[in-house]
Amino acid sequence: MGISIDLDYSWFVVFALLTWALATGYFPAGYGQSSQLLYWAAGAATAVMMFVCVLLHELGHAAVALRYKIPVRGITLFIFGGVAQIGAEPPGALAEFFIAIAGPLVSLVLAILFYVAQPLFAGMEPLLGIVGYLAYVNVALVLFNLIPGYPLDGGRVLRAIVWKLTGSLQRATLIAANAGRIFGLLLIFLGVMQILSGNPGGIWIAFVGWFLDSTAHAQVTQVRMKDLMAGYRVTQAMNAHCAAVSSDMTLQELVNGLVLGKGQRSFLVEHGGQMVGLATLHQIRAIPRHQWAQTRVDQAMLALEKAKCIDADAELWSALETMDRNGVNQLPVTRERRVVGMLSRDDIITFLRTIFELKA
Ligand SMILES: [Zn+2]
Repeated sequence: MGISIDLDYSWFVVFALLTWALATGYFPAGYGQSSQLLYWAAGAATAVMMFVCVLLHELGHAAVALRYKIPVRGITLFIFGGVAQIGAEPPGALAEFFIAIAGPLVSLVLAILFYVAQPLFAGMEPLLGIVGYLAYVNVALVLFNLIPGYPLDGGRVLRAIVWKLTGSLQRATLIAANAGRIFGLLLIFLGVMQILSGNPGGIWIAFVGWFLDSTAHAQVTQVRMKDLMAGYRVTQAMNAHCAAVSSDMTLQELVNGLVLGKGQRSFLVEHGGQMVGLATLHQIRAIPRHQWAQTRVDQAMLALEKAKCIDADAELWSALETMDRNGVNQLPVTRERRVVGMLSRDDIITFLRTIFELKA
């Protein structure tokens, strides 16, 4: 499906922990009288299979998103499971609902498959143990993910329903995210209670709760920010007096004079009165330092026709989305194909702070 799959470093931590827990607890207790080596091999195999199940769950979300022509940037497996990076908001409540429910449906099917497959493995320990554990894990995945708080799938289902009922994605997102925060805080509370009553495993529950709370909180902040930015245009926040540097300046001159001297981090490059490119710290860093004195700015810059630009009359919010999508921190601003300024993340933050202070 053209989706890249990444393993975060934290994945290895949980892989090791799970293998250890299964090899020293689950397999010896339930399926005794085997060798240590077999327990560890079975533990590692179960841990890998569990993440395959998580991956299939995420692929369920991704496949439905792709059907709605929403780009999927990739799937990352990390310490708390997996996450599919869906590149845009779904076009409607129904799409949101189907994307959200697809993952738990995949897990439900897997749970049933592993459950009914158990008799096939009767007497074949530890294979039976692996299949039994995977049936249990998939049931747990369905139940946990259906809890109605963002960022869990159940929270997305809740968001889809509120979106359908109220017609407002903003409101639906706020409600689902706040439900997620309540649930996250509840888990933190439960985890701490567990630790206090002598069960160190509670720290895991508390961490999951903290992760949910901070993700939901970030979502609430994003909605608030979008609210605050609503109605404002790029032209209001951009830097129209962004000095252009001459294309035949050397990188050394640029760094000494403007980067270190004035703290500027991105530059428009002009040649014969025409804007021809964009030079940022990113482009400067790509050239080895000892070559800075011999390299001209136009040899290092990103040519304007290759740079992602934004229209001066575009919504400020869409500029931020464009930056996120393209992984850049600034955009040249154009009007009728002429460059009229620059907009950086810093400009947006300064602008937002000003609006916020004026409203306060
Ligand atoms: Zn899911």
